[in-house]
Amino acid sequence: MKYAVASTWLPSRSPVTSNSTGSGSRVPASAMLPEAQGLRAPLSCLTQARYGIGWGVIGAAMECYETARAYSILRKQFDGRPIASHQLVQEKLADMITEITKAQLLALHVGRLKDQGKAEAAHVSMLKRNNASMALDCARAARDLLGANGIMDEYPVMRHMCNLETVKTYEGTDHIHALVIGERVTGVAAYK
Ligand SMILES: Cc1cc2nc3c(=O)[nH]c(=O)nc-3n(C[C@H](O)[C@H](O)[C@H](O)COP(=O)(O)OP(=O)(O)OC[C@H]3O[C@@H](n4cnc5c(N)ncnc54)[C@H](O)[C@@H]3O)c2cc1C
Repeated sequence: MKYAVASTWLPSRSPVTSNSTGSGSRVPASAMLPEAQGLRAPLSCLTQARYGIGWGVIGAAMECYETARAYSILRKQFDGRPIASHQLVQEKLADMITEITKAQLLALHVGRLKDQGKAEAAHVSMLKRNNASMALDCARAARDLLGANGIMDEYPVMRHMCNLETVKTYEGTDHIHALVIGERVTGVAAYK
């Protein structure tokens, strides 16, 4: 097996992406997992990982929300009033905390389904898709509320925003999870 560094990421800067090539590699039958059948076996691991992502992104959204909330109370503009006193700022904060709370309830609900052995891949798709998108929206709103400070690394918002852009893509893109949900509710697979 040969590896070659291909490129580096803009977000999550520590990992390095590499090309790997292999030929003539053989895996003995004794190394096979006895109950693993085809691609379904490794894909089932992804359902677990996606479930964790559904929770993890809530934490990113909460930090963005809390940063924006605290900033809007401290930051005074023009007439000396905090920007938190403006209706449009309060609407953004109200939207963020509402969406975070809804995302928490969705994650809790899927967690309870898992505990009961009733969670399906489509439930986890709904959780991952909704919560990653929600967190990215929160990060964008928080970045906006911080004005130019929103892009500074003094605040955690832009870092979360860059990471969340990638979370929207990895472990199944937003589109593909929409198709998993679509198949579950219609019985027709659109991606085949
Ligand atoms: C930070 C990061 C970490 C990652 N880590 C891993 C990892 O550890 N292991 C791993 O295996 N992969 C990893 N990936 C890869 C990731 O899973 C893929 O990037 C992702 O599945 C999308 O594949 P792609 O980049 O080839 O895009 P494409 O498949 O080319 O998709 C491009 C666009 O087309 C849309 N699209 C594609 N097919 C369809 C379709 N049938 N219907 C509708 N829309 C469609 C997609 O939704 C997307 O919007 C990682 C990616 C990132 C960004």
